[in-house]
Amino acid sequence: MKFSVDTHAHTIASTHAYSTVHDYFSVAKSKGIKLFAITDHGPDMADAPHFWHFVNMCVLPRIVDGVGMLRGIEANIKNELGEIDFYGNYLQQLDIVLAGFHEPVFPPSTQEIHTQALINCIESGHVDIITHPGNPKYPIDIMRVAKVAAQHNVALEINNSSFLTSRNGSLPNCTAIANAVKNAGGLLVMGSDSHVAFSLGGFDKSIEVIEAVDFPVERLLNRSPEALLCFLASRGHTTLDEYNVLID
Ligand SMILES: [Zn+2]
Ligand SMILES: [Zn+2]
Repeated sequence: MKFSVDTHAHTIASTHAYSTVHDYFSVAKSKGIKLFAITDHGPDMADAPHFWHFVNMCVLPRIVDGVGMLRGIEANIKNELGEIDFYGNYLQQLDIVLAGFHEPVFPPSTQEIHTQALINCIESGHVDIITHPGNPKYPIDIMRVAKVAAQHNVALEINNSSFLTSRNGSLPNCTAIANAVKNAGGLLVMGSDSHVAFSLGGFDKSIEVIEAVDFPVERLLNRSPEALLCFLASRGHTTLDEYNVLID
């Protein structure tokens, strides 16, 4: 598999998703995925797990049968200040922190407010990856967001589900985002946003976007476990030692 890292997957802890940790490990092994993250919705989302879901992730194995699983969250951006629904020392116990707009938590507003929320979220230092920034329900000033993300070493996501099952009309925005990140010198990551294990590591449509803008693969975090782990370490995560066995 060319891109063996997936940063975005939901388990049955979010009840509109349908697979367990076991299912994900099994599919990862069979597809040759070396490293993936489980990133259930932050507690403020409808049908999200309780706060304790994230606090208790220390019980999870990090490596099973040679496959790595990062302990993550897809937090909700709550307001224009860019605050998210997870905080404090608990954030530092996670291996990877994603955040994005979700309608039940942050109803769509104006382009200026969406842009400011994303910029504040990026500048907060709490979030590694902004999920589905190309959602047409949340128009943003793409150039400004790409520039601030590059300055703050935050990756923007090209979300493969946005081209398949949700967020209709994302393609033009995602293409513009990929181009803007390329020009700003920033980082992109592809996320399957799987809500069932079968789609883990599925990036077909996202790859088309990356290729359409000739995005430099050395700034794409899915290129190897090492690339993602180095990025997360550079963002201050100190929980990653067990994953070193994945780096060859
Ligand atoms: Zn999402
Ligand atoms: Zn998601």
